Amino acid sequence: MKHTTMEEIQAYIGDRVTTEQRTAVEDHLYSCVECLQVYMDGLETCQTNLPSLPDPEQWTNQIMDRIAPPRKRWYEYSLFHYGAAAVIMLAVTASGLFFPPNEASMEQRASETQPAPSYSDKLMQQTLTVLDQLKEKGGAVRE
Ligand SMILES: [Zn+2]
Repeated sequence: MKHTTMEEIQAYIGDRVTTEQRTAVEDHLYSCVECLQVYMDGLETCQTNLPSLPDPEQWTNQIMDRIAPPRKRWYEYSLFHYGAAAVIMLAVTASGLFFPPNEASMEQRASETQPAPSYSDKLMQQTLTVLDQLKEKGGAVRE
């Protein structure tokens, strides 16, 4: 078994490895206690090498200020939504959508929408007129 070198472990800890190299190092660390110990030692060395924060509390506050939710905009307040709903309600009420039309306007609409008499109706009317005229003439002759 070929052990992992110190350079490979340091590169693995510093995330300077390819996917294949990472897989190879991890596979070996699962099965080799010696290299796992070298890896643990390397992790401790890395932690001590990290820079220390001069004021951790101030640093935390700066981060929290950056990720704090933004202030609400004027259209995000519920009072605005109630006002908008009231304005829409008034507009709809004023337009008459909520009130049924009165009878006069309904009759006016009915007469406006009445269809023109069909051709068969006109033909029937003319036929009746001719028959009436014949009847009148026939009656006059008989008398
Ligand atoms: Zn090993």
